[in-house]
Amino acid sequence: MSKRLWIKQPLACFDGTQQIETNGLVIENGKIVELLAVGQQPSHPCETIFDARQHVILPGLINTHHHFYQTLTRAWGPVINQPLFPWLKTLYPVWAKLTPQALRLGSEVALAELLLSGCTTTSDHHYLFPVGMEEAIDIQVAAVNHLGMRATLSRGSMSLGEKSGGLPPEHTVQAAEIILEDSQRLIERYHDTRDGAMINIALAPCSPFSVTPDIMKQSAKLAEEKNVRLHTHLAETLDEEAFCLKLFGLRTVDYLDSVGWLSSRTWLAHGIHFNDEEIYRLGKEGVAISHCPVSNMRLASGICRTQELLQAGATISLGVDGSASNDASNMMYEARQALYLQRLRYGTQTITPELVLGWATRGGAKTLGRDDIGEINVGKQADLALFTLEDIRFSGSHDPLAALLLCGAERADRVMVAGNWRVIDGEIVDVDLPRLLNHHRKAAKHLIDL
Ligand SMILES: [Zn+2]
Repeated sequence: MSKRLWIKQPLACFDGTQQIETNGLVIENGKIVELLAVGQQPSHPCETIFDARQHVILPGLINTHHHFYQTLTRAWGPVINQPLFPWLKTLYPVWAKLTPQALRLGSEVALAELLLSGCTTTSDHHYLFPVGMEEAIDIQVAAVNHLGMRATLSRGSMSLGEKSGGLPPEHTVQAAEIILEDSQRLIERYHDTRDGAMINIALAPCSPFSVTPDIMKQSAKLAEEKNVRLHTHLAETLDEEAFCLKLFGLRTVDYLDSVGWLSSRTWLAHGIHFNDEEIYRLGKEGVAISHCPVSNMRLASGICRTQELLQAGATISLGVDGSASNDASNMMYEARQALYLQRLRYGTQTITPELVLGWATRGGAKTLGRDDIGEINVGKQADLALFTLEDIRFSGSHDPLAALLLCGAERADRVMVAGNWRVIDGEIVDVDLPRLLNHHRKAAKHLIDL
């Protein structure tokens, strides 16, 4: 029989929607089996009790947009002060030199950084498959398993090179048949449809300016056939809007519609430059948006219209993006930035810590098409992030949940994934982080020096 764990009397608890009063949670077989009212005891004895009186508990945070490999090109001189298109064009040739080992290290560092920030489920959007990198997603699956996290790994693609009017150099793009064949292989090999799945696969042509309309259409068809999710970058900058008008004669959402992507299967990174009519259409179809505030501020791309999108029926979640445009992989840091950036647009009363933490949890689960994570409730997966308020930055704070964002919590004290403690006392279990960072720094330097 599986052991029962009582996480007893937390200082505060956020269930994915609001702050709740609770005498704690009981975990068994990787799931939350009881959520106790104040004063209530577990229905059966628990073998282990964890005293959580010093801890604020959140559902494990969910990151819905990232490029793990970019941890190798953080804060790189030539692109520090560039907006999106020149930033991309300068970085493409560097990224094209990616090796399997560098991708493994980049992915493990991104995952470790996310995990330490309280993230238990992440997505990644990998679209670089130069010669020798055919097994990029397989490498990422191994990295996710190594860290003991959950992930939706999206098989990205680029098929529209410079010669055909696209942005990426020719040697970074792939033929449509290769992309689709590999997409099918990955879904069949790794996509787990069960409750509590650790790995999901999604299909993710990179952006309108780097793929052909044909690959967008074929990917949508395959996603429908295999019942997997679709992901891409859309409406990130006005440059992109101008590009779509010039090459396709369409605005971004019309383009999305023309390739069969306007559906609840789709989640979009950024989603900034939409007009009212486009927001109405996206909401009506139940499209999800991964809001990436730090990347959007760093590249001066714009501010996502979250409130209009929500009112129209769209789902909002948070993505760290990057790490060449963030340059952190920290979900608490991202949530804090989302709170403040969105307040600039909508004011203090509308944008609350609970709303933003909801995007980072429940909104993330919905974006990735899951109903087994993102909430603290009976029957949900035991994915939890526990924070203490002992650091100097919290001293003198009063509301424990608000303190996490307002005082700037960056590192969880404990993180649980599927009932297993993956972070204890602020350290990842079974991972030699100094050794990993040592190798990662060398790989990053080598990539630039090549
Ligand atoms: Zn991105």
